[in-house]
Amino acid sequence: CGIVGYIGPKSVVPVIIEGLRRLEYRGYDSAGIAVGGSPEHPNKLDLRRAPGKLKNLETVIAASPIDGTYGIGHTRWATHGRPTEENAHPHRDGTGTLVVVHNGIVENYLALKKSLIAKGHTFQSETDTEIIAHVIQDELELHEKMGAPRLDSETWVSTEANESQAVLISNTPDRLPLDEAVRRAVKRLTGAFAIGVLSAHAPDTLVAARMGPPAVIGIGEGEFFLASDVPGILHHTRNIHFLQDGEVAVLTKTGVRITDFENNELPLKIQRIAWDP
Ligand code: GLU
Repeated sequence: CGIVGYIGPKSVVPVIIEGLRRLEYRGYDSAGIAVGGSPEHPNKLDLRRAPGKLKNLETVIAASPIDGTYGIGHTRWATHGRPTEENAHPHRDGTGTLVVVHNGIVENYLALKKSLIAKGHTFQSETDTEIIAHVIQDELELHEKMGAPRLDSETWVSTEANESQAVLISNTPDRLPLDEAVRRAVKRLTGAFAIGVLSAHAPDTLVAARMGPPAVIGIGEGEFFLASDVPGILHHTRNIHFLQDGEVAVLTKTGVRITDFENNELPLKIQRIAWDP
C-alpha cells in the first residue's frame, strides 16, 4: 500500500518508481503503474503491472518501455484477492480508459459488485479496488444517460438538399468531469480509501480522494505530486498539503484544487516539512 502520483515536466516513470521504492516497506505483493501524456499518444494511458517486488515491475518496464507527463503507481499489500498480476493495481473500469490505485478496504464492495454485475459490468480481478473504477464509470454513464440528445455539428450536412441527412447523435452530452465523477463515486463507498484516478478522457488530470488511509499532496515548481506518505516525494518538494478525510484533490499542470465530496472549495494548506525521513 504505497501510492505515488505525478504531473509535471519530468519523465514520470522514474519519479514514480523512485517514490515507490522509498515507500516499499509498506507493501510488496505486487506493483503497477499507469502513465499518460506520451508525445505520440497524448490521450492514451499505458499500464504495466507485475506480481512481487518493485524490481519485477522495473523488469517489465525495461522490456516494454513507457513514458509520459503524468501517472500513478502503487505497491500492494493484498487484502482482497491473491497477490497475482490480475489483482495488481492500477485497476481499470469496464471501458479500459480509467484507472485507479487504492490503499485501504472498501467494505461494501460485494453489494456494489452485485449491483454492477446486474447492470452488465464484468470484472477482471478479485479486489475491492476494481469496484471503485467501475463505480466511477457508472457515474459517468448515469450522467450520459440523463443528457439530452443533441445534434453533432461535426457531422451536420449543411447543403439545403441534404439537410435531412443531419446525423442525430443521441446520448452524447458533455462528459461529466472526471473529478465530479470521482466525488459522486466515493460517496457510494463505505470503508477506508486513499485513491488516485486517471482517465484517458481527461488528459493532464490526476484526481485523488481520501477517507481513512493517509494521502499527501506535494506542491513543487510547476509540478505536483500525490503520495501515501511524505517520504515518497520529500526529495522533490518539502511543501506538503496533508489531504484530510473527505477531501478530493484535482492535480493539473497548472495547480491543485481541493474540495470536499460536495465540490465545495477548500483551502490548500501547505506545510513546510523540515525533517528528513
Ligand atoms: N484492498 C486493496 C487490495 O487488496 C488495497 C490494498 C492495499 O492497501 O495495498 O488490493
